[in-house]
Order: sequence, then C-alpha cells, then structure tokens
Amino acid sequence: MIKKADVVIIGGGIIGLATAFNLAKLKYGKILVIEKELFLGAGSTGKCAGGVRAQFSNKVNIEMSMKSEEILVNFEKEVGYPIVFDQVGYMFLLSNERELAEFTKAIELQRSLGLKVDLLEPAEISKIAPPVRTDDIIKATFCKADGLADPSDLIQGYASAARKLGVEIAVETEAIGLKTRNGAITAVTTNQGEISTPLVVNAAGPYAGIIGQMAGAKVPGEPVRRQIVTTGPLDYIPATFPMVVDVQAGLYFHKESAGLLLGWADKAVKPGFDISVDPEYTDTILNKALERVPKLETAEISKSWAGLYETTPDHQAIIGFANEIKGMFIAAGFSGHGMMHAPAAGLISAELICGKNTSIDPTPLSPDRFAKGAVSEETNVI
Ligand SMILES: Cc1cc2nc3c(=O)[nH]c(=O)nc-3n(C[C@H](O)[C@H](O)[C@H](O)COP(=O)(O)OP(=O)(O)OC[C@H]3O[C@@H](n4cnc5c(N)ncnc54)[C@H](O)[C@@H]3O)c2cc1C
Repeated sequence: MIKKADVVIIGGGIIGLATAFNLAKLKYGKILVIEKELFLGAGSTGKCAGGVRAQFSNKVNIEMSMKSEEILVNFEKEVGYPIVFDQVGYMFLLSNERELAEFTKAIELQRSLGLKVDLLEPAEISKIAPPVRTDDIIKATFCKADGLADPSDLIQGYASAARKLGVEIAVETEAIGLKTRNGAITAVTTNQGEISTPLVVNAAGPYAGIIGQMAGAKVPGEPVRRQIVTTGPLDYIPATFPMVVDVQAGLYFHKESAGLLLGWADKAVKPGFDISVDPEYTDTILNKALERVPKLETAEISKSWAGLYETTPDHQAIIGFANEIKGMFIAAGFSGHGMMHAPAAGLISAELICGKNTSIDPTPLSPDRFAKGAVSEETNVI
C-alpha cells in the first residue's frame, strides 16, 4: 500500500467507490480507498434492497435521484461497466386521506422538476401488481422510471472503473486514527501503517460518526438495524412487478430472483451496530406481507439478513467539508437511500472537492445545516 496520497477515502462502500471514480475522472491525483473488511461493499451497501426511486418529498433528494437514474441508465457509457437497471417502477400504496394529501403535495414538486409520476386507482394497481390486496387502498403513486439495481453490480462497476483510472483500493485496511496539525488533517493511521495525506473523504457509512470523532468533526446521525426476508419462487409474480411500498404498514417488497424480497422499517429499533437477525423482526415482516399479499401464505422463506441504515436527524445525506477540521470531506448519512443516490453523490462530492460548479446544489446537504438550523426533513423515507 502507498504511504502518501492526495486523498484517502475511508470506506469501500458504494459512496466511497463512486466518489473515487469521479475524483479519478477529474484527475484529482493519487487516490487511495481503504476498506476495513475483506470485500468491497461489505457494509450497508451489500445489505441493501436495491431500490432506486425519485419519489421524495424534498427537492434536493428528487434531484439527486433524477441525476442518479440518468447515470444508471447510461452506466456502461459513463462508467464503462455493464449493469442492469430494471425500470419496473415504484408504487406507493396510500390508505387514507392524510397520506394522499402528503403524496399529492410531493407529486406536485416532483412533476415541477420534470418527473413523470401517476396517481393510480385501485383497479390500475391490480393490473401492475396483481397479487397485491387493494380493498383498503384509496390510491397509489407510480413512477415508471424508478426501479431496481443490483448493489454488487454498482460496486464492481465503480471499483473496476476507478482502478482503471489509477485508484488504489486497499481492503482489510482499517482507519484507526487521524493525525492533525494546526487544525488540519495530515495522516490516516491504519492497521497496515500510516498514510500521509492532506485530505480524507469520510465515506464510512454507519461508522462515519466514529471517523469524524477521530479528528473532532461532528457527523450527526446514528446506525439503526433494518431487516430483509426473501421468499422462494412464486409463479404469480410477473417479470414486470414493481417495487411496492405499503406506506401505512412501512412495508416494501419487490421481485427478487423468482420470488419476492420483503422489508420493513421497525421504528422501535434502538440505535446500535448490531446486525444479527432478530426472529421476531422477521415474523413481523412476514405478517405484514401476508396482510398485503395473502397469496404469500404458501411461500417458502429463502433468506433473511440485517444491515444498518445511517440515519441523520433530517433523513438526508451529509455531503461537504467538515467545519471543525481542515481536510475532512463527509459523504455519509444517506438514511436508507445511499445506493440510489450514490451516482449523484459521487459526482457532486468530486465536484466539490475539485472546487468545480456542482451538477446539483448541495446546500441542503451541507454538514453545517444542523448548527445553522437550516434543516428541512425528508418525510418520504421507508
Ligand atoms: C436493509 C437495508 C435496505 C436498504 N435498501 C436500500 C434501497 O433499496 N435503496 C437504497 O438506495 N439504499 C438502501 N439502503 C441504504 C444503503 O444500503 C446505504 O445508504 C448505502 O449502502 C450507504 O453506502 P455507504 O458507502 O455510505 O456505506 P457502506 O456501504 O456501509 O460503506 C461504508 C464502508 O466503510 C467501511 N468502514 C467503516 N469504518 C471503516 C474504517 N474505520 N476503516 C476502513 N473502512 C471502514 C465499512 O466496512 C463499509 O464497507 C438499505 C440499507 C439497508 C440496511
């Protein structure tokens, strides 16, 4: 491993790798990515459900998604690696007038930014997602451009393209400390030795707060466990089945191989780094799924796993230079939508680091918004 770099990116998840690729494209200099685990994407990225949607309530998140979807559609051309972005659409099932009012307001904003979103009647829902029970659903939002991507495809794509551009990626290399002098970062201490550098990108996902603390920088947010269950093959799930979100239940599901992937956000889970699978959590997911898709009664369970959401107080990412120390750039806190936002996040992070005009105005994501009280919460989170 090199002992000196122009930038050390801490974290070989999707955010660190997308940032590395974009920095290399802008010819930033010697770029080193360090990842504490043996495999890239071993953190939250590898646990993610693969959903990609632009249906958010906040302008910046809609813009981040639209830019990311544009990059995903052209990924092979832009990054040089073939991936599958399956634009089967995202459907939000609405059960009451309060949800309808909230989503109608969001649709107005989404449409004003150029997103094509429909409001569906229950009969139309059944045509697109046949086994879904709709007798208690009043409407659904649907955006056909949303869809599914494979997180490991994106990891491989960004990692191999970054390497081709000269980025060094060191696995099993854990940042254990940051050295500073006169209020500026000078080196990263790792279990493999010290790397001198004037710039660190903190892309450590749920661990970003710990990396921040190493140099006295605050990265607001906390890790929370989220679980997923997959089923065996189901012959009634069409190839075009979308991502379906039952807003009231907090449940989401989409086709995965020949079956379904089911997830639910248990808001009662206490923050922490535990990613063991809780059987009670799994049962709740299955019970909620049975309520919405009664045919699942005969489904076989294939796998279940848990991962960490990196949840910030306003459910939006933190992208920008830390205020407390010179030489730390934060790209973290994606609050459950980091895979889908990675293409845009990598791009604007690299633009900001290189002092260029950014493709999207990153002000609402800046690290100092919390201290300034300039926080606008993203409400459409799962
Ligand atoms: C169950 C679940 C479902 C999800 N579903 C979706 C979805 O459908 N769509 C979506 O867009 N997002 C989804 N997400 C969120 C998404 O997975 C994350 O937002 C995204 O992966 C964050 O990427 P990251 O690179 O910031 O973090 P990570 O992937 O966690 O990468 C950070 C890396 O930093 C490494 N690291 C940490 N500390 C150190 C250190 N000291 N030294 C070196 N390396 C270190 C970690 O090992 C890790 O590999 C989901 C998350 C979960 C848990």
